[in-house]
Amino acid sequence: MRFKDLSQIKRPKPLEITLGNLPQHILMAKYAKDKAFKISELVGVIFEKSYEWYGLTLGNKDQPELIVDIGLPQNDFNLQDYTTLGSERIAEFQESLTEDVIINGWIHSHGALNYRHFSNTDEKNHLTVLDFVGSRTRKPLAKKEIAVQDLVLLEKDRFVEKDLEKGSVCLITDGPITEAKIMETVYGSFCYSIVIGDEGWHEQQIHCRERGILSGYMTVRSQAGKIEFVDTGKSLSQVDIIALSDDVKQKIKPHTDPPPELIERM
Ligand SMILES: [Zn+2]
Repeated sequence: MRFKDLSQIKRPKPLEITLGNLPQHILMAKYAKDKAFKISELVGVIFEKSYEWYGLTLGNKDQPELIVDIGLPQNDFNLQDYTTLGSERIAEFQESLTEDVIINGWIHSHGALNYRHFSNTDEKNHLTVLDFVGSRTRKPLAKKEIAVQDLVLLEKDRFVEKDLEKGSVCLITDGPITEAKIMETVYGSFCYSIVIGDEGWHEQQIHCRERGILSGYMTVRSQAGKIEFVDTGKSLSQVDIIALSDDVKQKIKPHTDPPPELIERM
């Protein structure tokens, strides 16, 4: 049995039900902010010069929008105005984290440079980070109706091969129906990017990706976002600073004699 082709029926506007939202601004614990600027300060003290460095912003699985800490992965080499970011390093760092901690973005410094915006290299890094952390910050944003131009409804065991030649999509049901809506989940994921300078300035962006699970529709957008510093009751102690100092010595690799191909990429 074959039912009436739905494309013949005047369809109302596709139905969309909102289920959640991606962050509109960045939430960061004061502790994480202090730690980031402390890393810059320690780099200057330990290596007697300001170098760019990068770290990963960390959140909790149950509150991915809040940056609670800064993780310092192994930096491959740090120049005065350029730092590299590789997905292998992010993966390696992710493995060192406990189950409840997620990476929700990245942070880097422009050292003593007064270059207060993201460079072209940074733009590429945003996408590397978004690709990597997207599955962890992913959440359903909406259920959205897929408007199928030529939907054919068929009943299980009651259609013939010829029926399948018709329509762009066919829905086979176990009972007779005359109308159907197909709703797909639109998932959204995000990551943050923050750039800081030795003088105490910071700039930040939110990168968002939305993907329709069935239609495959995908959008990626970046927007400048306000940042709100939150007091989580945790502050940077002397013990923390000593541990951070060791971390900086170990993870930051100043590159004082960069090969020419690197200089060109700055
Ligand atoms: Zn940069």
